[in-house]
Amino acid sequence: MFDNIIGNNKNKQILKNIIKNNNISHSYIFSGIAGIGKLLFAKEFAKAILCLSDENKPCNRCKSCLSFENNNNTDIIIIDEQEESIKTEIIKNLTRNILEKPVQNSRKIYIINNSENMTKEAQNSLLKTLEEPPDFAIIILITSNENLLLNTIKSRCIKIFFENLSNNEIKEYFDRHSIEFNNNMLNSFGGSIKKAIELNEKRDMYEKIASIFDKLDDKNELEILNLKESVFNNKEDVYSILEYINTLFYNKIMQDVNNTKVYEKCIEIIEETKIRLKRNSNYDMTIDWTLLSINASIEGND
Ligand SMILES: [Zn+2]
Repeated sequence: MFDNIIGNNKNKQILKNIIKNNNISHSYIFSGIAGIGKLLFAKEFAKAILCLSDENKPCNRCKSCLSFENNNNTDIIIIDEQEESIKTEIIKNLTRNILEKPVQNSRKIYIINNSENMTKEAQNSLLKTLEEPPDFAIIILITSNENLLLNTIKSRCIKIFFENLSNNEIKEYFDRHSIEFNNNMLNSFGGSIKKAIELNEKRDMYEKIASIFDKLDDKNELEILNLKESVFNNKEDVYSILEYINTLFYNKIMQDVNNTKVYEKCIEIIEETKIRLKRNSNYDMTIDWTLLSINASIEGND
């Protein structure tokens, strides 16, 4: 169970124990940042709950497991809306449908992905079901922002918290899937495989940043200042880019012991940039300040 999923080993053990002891509750919240495998965990857990084998659940061989693999296990219902909000109508359907007995199994499982997208009204209509679920029903709410779930919902569910993945775990993911990646980018992924995949596709841009910072001694002022247009126009990735530049400077400290002060100063500038951005300082002005300050501290070294 869970062999194909990387990370969160503690949760693997918790969920395995629940299956082993047949100590299954009616409602769970799987909480943690996006892109760390919560939905995969939920599917595997659901498959194991319904597995007809006596041991080693999910067996991947019984009727229930096979029908799940073929996407026609009618007793596992996954709500995975691509729209921004999960409307009341969808949840009302669920609350009606959940009263009908399972077809193939003794239990019936509902998984709601991105459950924080349920409107307040939708959450309220789910609440009644959570308060008095049919004996055979299990609901798993998956969320990357549990603050958006009503307290009344949360108090009805057993919460399982998923940790961000470590850099080694993300490395393992890329290795298992034979995907090329840039080691220096690992800190930029923020522990999320989803983010790692997205940013890995922009690897060229990150490598371009590295090529500029690699030849810092050549007085490439213009290239540093140009980063504003060529790199920092990716506002949504700004923290990943800053993290990456920090990694580059940390590497330089290791490689170039004579100039550690300069690089330490640059790291300070990047840290200050993060603080300014989090304080909602003007984006353009902040980035101008960052690049000019980095440039000044490098030139001051000559
Ligand atoms: Zn099975």
